[in-house]
Amino acid sequence: MNKYKDFENYLKEYPSADGFFGEYGGSFIDEKLIPAFKDADDAYEAICHSAQFINELRRIRKEFQGRPTPVYHCERLSRLFGHCQIYLKREDLNHTGAHKLNHCMGEGLLAKFMGKKKLIAETGAGQHGVAIATAAAYFGLECDVYMGEVDIAKQHPNVIRMKMLGANVIPVSRGLKTLKEACDAAFEAYLNEYKDAIYCIGSALGPHPFPKMVRDFQSVIGIEAREQFLDMTGIMPDAVTACVGGGSNSLGMFTPFLADPVEIYGVEPLGRGDKVGDHAATMKYGTKGRIHGFNTYVLQDEKGEPLPVYSVASGLDYPGVGPEHAFLRDKGRVNYVAVSDEEAMEAFFLLSRYEGIIPAIESAHAVAYAIKYAKEHKSGSILACLSGRGDKDIDYVYENYGCGEKYVEKYSK
Ligand SMILES: *Cc1c(COP(=O)(O)O)cnc(C)c1O
Repeated sequence: MNKYKDFENYLKEYPSADGFFGEYGGSFIDEKLIPAFKDADDAYEAICHSAQFINELRRIRKEFQGRPTPVYHCERLSRLFGHCQIYLKREDLNHTGAHKLNHCMGEGLLAKFMGKKKLIAETGAGQHGVAIATAAAYFGLECDVYMGEVDIAKQHPNVIRMKMLGANVIPVSRGLKTLKEACDAAFEAYLNEYKDAIYCIGSALGPHPFPKMVRDFQSVIGIEAREQFLDMTGIMPDAVTACVGGGSNSLGMFTPFLADPVEIYGVEPLGRGDKVGDHAATMKYGTKGRIHGFNTYVLQDEKGEPLPVYSVASGLDYPGVGPEHAFLRDKGRVNYVAVSDEEAMEAFFLLSRYEGIIPAIESAHAVAYAIKYAKEHKSGSILACLSGRGDKDIDYVYENYGCGEKYVEKYSK
């Protein structure tokens, strides 16, 4: 039982003032960047706990984002597997279709309160770029999004969205021309421009204070979900789950449940299998290391260079993981499991067919684990975070998997 009691003051205790979750996290950056990150942390601590900031963010969440998002009981899906009940926290109903706006609006408002003129970000598949461009448009801020040339060619619709929203999409042509180089370029820009700009990272990772800031802004997911679930059922769910890429929707979902007697499962992508380059299951196959300026688990070679990663869900294929996840596993509070491409695609099609909800492929990983859990438990309930909607994925899914006849067939007798 003490397992849960230990977490009653967790949010006050972690991270430490210098950004550590135990041995994970911290800030290992170019000396010249230190003032910029300190500036952001000081402002965050000073501003974000003020009533004025909190009230303004609440108003934005309600009127612009469409919060609270509902908790939904998947009755038809649950019936397929027996008596365990599957519930979803519907982050797919956020404006722009995913949870990423939760922290982007928080960071935008912080920039506004700090008197900054510009938001700087990197993006890979473009989902974070679109969310940050949306926040910039809302607050009337400039927005520079750094994106590798390879990704620009692949993610045309998101590039167009960002430009329509008024962002400058800045092509990065060095190295492999993908996310890592875009990240480096965005850091360099921040170094030169931090007096006028704030850097907005895409997940609960990076150097301190970003893992803390993003977690706090995303916690709205779990705070709402906990209250809504209690309201609907009168009890706590037996288990809570979410997919883990960098780890922002999952930490948002998990942290408000840490002191409750609820099992927690983080779901990583197992991709095509357990060989190097076929998955991005950092917790399962990674080792302790350092990536992008913080300590965590990393999929790395002997020299500490990140290994190639893969997942059918482009939002999950990161060779590291947010530092707080590494800590919560060591503490024994969160279990990490891995779900394959095939399992995620089955969940994608089942949720579409049985509930009328087309999920993002990332989110389908969490649904797949909820299904696995429901199959293994005769009763009880599991609450999964549906981090985003699948509109962005349907062309890719159709080309590679059709409309899913093969996946739903075996359930329709
Ligand atoms: C980006 C993304 C993720 C992964 O990011 P986290 O920081 O791990 O939450 C998951 N789901 C959707 C829909 C996304 O767009």
